[in-house]
Amino acid sequence: MTAKIRRFLDEQKPETPCLIVDLDVVAENYRALRRYLPLAEVFYAVKANPAPEIVAMLVGLGSSFDAASLNEIDLCLDAGADPLRLSFGSTIKKQKDIEAAFAKGVRLFAFDSQAELDKLVAAAPGSRVFCRILVDNAGADWPLSRKFGCELEMARDLLVQARDRGLDPYGVSFHVGSQQTDLSQWDVAVGRTAMLFTALSEAGIELKMVNLGGGFPARYKAEVAEIDAYADAIMRAMTHHFGNRLPAMVVEPGRSLVGDAGIIQTEVVLIAKKSYREGEARWVYLDVGKFSGLAETTDELIKYRLRTPHDHKGAVGPVVLAGPTCDSIDILYEKAGYELPLDLKVGDKIEILATGAYTLTYSSVGFNGFPPLRAVYI
Ligand SMILES: *Cc1c(COP(=O)(O)O)cnc(C)c1O
Repeated sequence: MTAKIRRFLDEQKPETPCLIVDLDVVAENYRALRRYLPLAEVFYAVKANPAPEIVAMLVGLGSSFDAASLNEIDLCLDAGADPLRLSFGSTIKKQKDIEAAFAKGVRLFAFDSQAELDKLVAAAPGSRVFCRILVDNAGADWPLSRKFGCELEMARDLLVQARDRGLDPYGVSFHVGSQQTDLSQWDVAVGRTAMLFTALSEAGIELKMVNLGGGFPARYKAEVAEIDAYADAIMRAMTHHFGNRLPAMVVEPGRSLVGDAGIIQTEVVLIAKKSYREGEARWVYLDVGKFSGLAETTDELIKYRLRTPHDHKGAVGPVVLAGPTCDSIDILYEKAGYELPLDLKVGDKIEILATGAYTLTYSSVGFNGFPPLRAVYI
């Protein structure tokens, strides 16, 4: 919670639930990553928070962008991004969207399968393409595995084919999983990438770029390493596997740039017990839930930090936290061991910290009559 957000809440008293994002924090996170990883070009993963305010500011700071759809590409172009600084990074694209992106000047595309490569050959001739490889997502709180990437052997054949069919086989990408807390995962993935570089070199193709994906953390309940430790782990992995012949490096941070920059202010709608049994957890129902932005509480994977007006003032007790809708899937935390002050009462405001990433656009359009999450960028 920054002083700027505190002041905004105190002065504006926005109607809850409301996401407030401090753009200065996004800028600082971007600058810190550039400082610690100066050799890597930063492609902001737009899906983490596609607010035009954020994208425009990052254009100003010199960022490039990883977009997954034509709308995300348009959003970046509208914010002033150079199409040559965009990557159409999804491996699942319609051919007509590839054509449209190509017509708008985009020249960098991802793929991980034969059929996707066929579309690129047809719709984006001469473009730079990179192949996403499968990597284990062990250590990640929010996995991005299985669905994306292919085995090394297949990646090799597809990149050779890319050359033979008029594309520029530019590099390799992977994603070690979002909110990755095991820094050694980059060494494993970079090792596999280097093997692929060697295999292609033997086929007469010198790949030029390693896309190290995202996975850098925001600060939730568990402690995480600072960004400089991630940068060190990546540089160690790169020099370990590539020696002094480093290829161009790309990172695609989403969560780590915007997560810590936002908080959701919410209101306690109801506190209830289900029986007269002693010691039973209270059910605390908030005016925000799974359908208004907190989708990453699915399986209690992302555990947000909470602030209440009663913190550090008295006893706490176990709670089940739930959203306001008439759907029992709309429970945020039941098993994760959340405790809140016994003094908590209906009408209290609770702040959910580090909610700048993967919240706003996960909000439903109006399930049960609750409006989508509102957001303010300050
Ligand atoms: C979502 C995504 C990212 C961003 O991941 P974070 O863990 O939020 O940094 C990067 N690259 C690709 C291809 C993605 O799909």
